[in-house]
Amino acid sequence: MAHVTGLRCRECRESYPKRLVHACSLCFGPLDVAYDYEAISRTISKESIAKGPPTLWRYKDLLPIEQESSIVDIGVGFTPLLRADNLARELGLKEVYVKNDSVNPTFSFKDRPSSIAVSKAIEFGSPAVGAASTGNLSGAMAAHAAKARLPCFIFVPEGLESSKIAQTLSYGAHVIEVSGTYDQANRLATEIALTSNIAFANINVRPYYVEGSKTLAFEVCEQLGWQAPQHIIVPVASGALLHAAWRGLKELEEVGLIDGWSTRISAAQAEGCSPIVQALLKGANEITPVETPDTICKSLAIGDPADGYYAIRAVRATKGVGSAPNDEQILEGVRLLAKMEGVFTEPAGGTAVAALKQLVEDGKIERDEQVVLYITGNGLKTQESIAPALPKPYQIEPTIESFRQLVDKLQTPRVKWLEGM
Ligand SMILES: *Cc1c(COP(=O)(O)O)cnc(C)c1O
Ligand SMILES: [Zn+2]
Repeated sequence: MAHVTGLRCRECRESYPKRLVHACSLCFGPLDVAYDYEAISRTISKESIAKGPPTLWRYKDLLPIEQESSIVDIGVGFTPLLRADNLARELGLKEVYVKNDSVNPTFSFKDRPSSIAVSKAIEFGSPAVGAASTGNLSGAMAAHAAKARLPCFIFVPEGLESSKIAQTLSYGAHVIEVSGTYDQANRLATEIALTSNIAFANINVRPYYVEGSKTLAFEVCEQLGWQAPQHIIVPVASGALLHAAWRGLKELEEVGLIDGWSTRISAAQAEGCSPIVQALLKGANEITPVETPDTICKSLAIGDPADGYYAIRAVRATKGVGSAPNDEQILEGVRLLAKMEGVFTEPAGGTAVAALKQLVEDGKIERDEQVVLYITGNGLKTQESIAPALPKPYQIEPTIESFRQLVDKLQTPRVKWLEGM
């Protein structure tokens, strides 16, 4: 633990002490946690990690928490990496894996950055935590704040899924619905972060917060026997998770846990809010913000993404691509993953599945390329956007005859009635 040397500007490389600062005072660039990788490579090993807990804290040497006692642990991470042979066959691919992060404690990958953010807020002595959220960060922050006994202020745009709000309120957080988009809620939260001592996960704690997201990349490598995958597809909102995947792979090589890597990192966004993918498709460096997102994929609906530029850089540097399926294709992706692999994801996960399908059809992913899908959220949190596209349940009388008539109508293969019944 405690291999952090300070913070460093991602742009001009200026160094800063370990404080609650998030932007470079020289160039306004974002700050990243800087580590002493030499010291880490002397202590970390595949064996030491294997002996760690079955949570993201098994990688604590590569995380920015200084004191064991500040860790808020609700059992986040080390989620299953499932080989998805049915889906692979359906899409004409050889080897596909599903990294099922929808089974985290609050049912999304946002538990990873939140566990770091709240632990870090404790280290800084913050009296309260907060976040601006597209839906999943709210529950993740609220749960960790509850465990840490800290007040939690969550700013959300209008129109989020009701189960995400109910979940967040159940953990005891103050939920503040801002009339407007996520960007407007986030702008308000940013002003509050700059004028109060509340630790906002995605704002003033951001340099630390994003460190949690790289553990997703660590786990995939460990679960593949310390091999980096050939291709990962990441659902993208602010771009932080995608950028963290790139950083995570570079760090594993740096400390000697993997021998080189050539992973392509690709971005998936919903067509109705795809500023990062549109810039990738146009070959542009500038991101044109989306004023009013229009998609059922609410958890990815950030029109003006904070790490957008860096996500683009990571995709280009790794020869990845972008794909922006529409809502219909996204819902088809949700159903395809559920039917083929028994994994029920929210539209964000459906976006990754739909992107994979599209990219294979367009010849941008080779059929023998090994692909890992980041499935980042759970379908149970977004029933209202998924249910309208599903068939209705059958309604029958409470008699065997009623059921027989139904089975006859359905012509289910190999189901038949036993003699004498
Ligand atoms: C937030 C979120 C993402 C993407 O997160 P960023 O780091 O902001 O790009 C992906 N999937 C789900 C389900 C999310 O909630
Ligand atoms: Zn700078």
